[in-house]
Amino acid sequence: MCGVFGIFGHEEASNLTYLGLHALQHRGQESAGIVAADGPVLKSYKQMGLVADVFNATTLGMLPGRSAIGHVRYSTAGSSLLANAQPLMVAWSMGQMSVAHNGNLVNHDALKKKLELEGTIYQSDSDTETVLHLIARSRGTTFEDRVVEALKQTVGAYSLLFLTDKKLVAVRDAFGFRPLVLGRLKNAYVLASETTALDLIEAEFLREIEPGEMVVIDEHGLKSTFPFEKKRSGRCIFEHVYFARSDTQLFGRSVFETRKKLGVQLAKEQPANADVVIAVPDSGVPAAIGYAQGSGIPYDIGLIRSHYVGRTFIEPQQSIRHFGVKLKLSAVRATLKDKRVVVIDDSIVRGTTSRKIVKMLKDAGAREVHVRIASPPTTWPCYYGIDTPSRQELIAASHSIDEIAKYITADSLGYLTLDGLHATVGDPERMTYCSACFSGAYLTALKA
Ligand code: AMP
Repeated sequence: MCGVFGIFGHEEASNLTYLGLHALQHRGQESAGIVAADGPVLKSYKQMGLVADVFNATTLGMLPGRSAIGHVRYSTAGSSLLANAQPLMVAWSMGQMSVAHNGNLVNHDALKKKLELEGTIYQSDSDTETVLHLIARSRGTTFEDRVVEALKQTVGAYSLLFLTDKKLVAVRDAFGFRPLVLGRLKNAYVLASETTALDLIEAEFLREIEPGEMVVIDEHGLKSTFPFEKKRSGRCIFEHVYFARSDTQLFGRSVFETRKKLGVQLAKEQPANADVVIAVPDSGVPAAIGYAQGSGIPYDIGLIRSHYVGRTFIEPQQSIRHFGVKLKLSAVRATLKDKRVVVIDDSIVRGTTSRKIVKMLKDAGAREVHVRIASPPTTWPCYYGIDTPSRQELIAASHSIDEIAKYITADSLGYLTLDGLHATVGDPERMTYCSACFSGAYLTALKA
């Protein structure tokens, strides 16, 4: 998972990219970077860390120009190293180019092996570098032709932004796994993973970049084409469940409204006898409000989240994650003491978080703890850009719901059904969204 942002035609391109990345920080906290085009020269700055820590007035001042792309990263392919931080920037036969990628290529290993056998030297272990090699080797006449030829060899998920000295090119894979939106700020075009980034810089939201669409922006304006074979849409349902920020408009719907409706549906499917509904903040809050509305049980604050730590799950090391839950959340005794509590979270991955939360609630005096999850059991890893552990580590892949309840020491546990989830996002036929993490029904071959 990552966040991308791009702007073309604004004298404050890198400052606005910095702000845009800040609004996308929830999509990746390992590294941040910006590449700006100043006349024929592209300049880059990237570092490990959060956007606000990576950039300051001096570093942004080193990125002049009227167009820029930026990236926030958390690794799905490749390790968490500066070499893998994006945007990647290279010099090649056509000058300089830079790329920012959200997604994951499932045939990357095979492509890389082939390229390396033919003599390609890699500078990183990220799948995005492969796209640059394929572009450099293409015989297409224009930059766009080369991008298309390169991407036709890939399988998987990509919302990509390319920057050259003359153009900003945006491409979304034909399934549309990852989001990408287009906006306008005065005479400038803006591209971003989520509308939150447009809102912050007060850009007008124009539309979603369509699955399979390529948009080329240059001094002549914007040109849209559909160079890729049409596929059924496979927008990521987990973006609605967890990943996108609640204030975003995602795939044409309000994430906040959708999450609230998931809570209403959950109350219908998995009722509980309880005195109070609480959320695991922040990800469970909208669904908890919905659950309270749907069940008639009052909503209250039972857990407080510290503002000074990031999303614990995102740090890739087990030791940090375990410690992190305690750093991140604390229980409100006044809400919990002697109460039968329903606690709502968006998902259970390994079960580590839920187990700690139930203990925390009971230690704070809760009489009963009923866990309700606003999505189905996560039983399959994502290969399309969400960082999930291997199948063996997904608790629901090998344990029944009763066994999970026992492990997390809950008095009861209930998940939303997959039908309930698809119906709530407006896809009852299961034809618009990818929900492979819950069903194992992957939309592409997984190996080349
Ligand atoms: P776990 O402790 O492994 O069961 O993780 C569950 C928690 O991680 C839930 O509170 C979710 O909000 C959050 N979560 C679920 N999926 C992801 C993901 N791909 N990246 C980061 N956090 C996640």
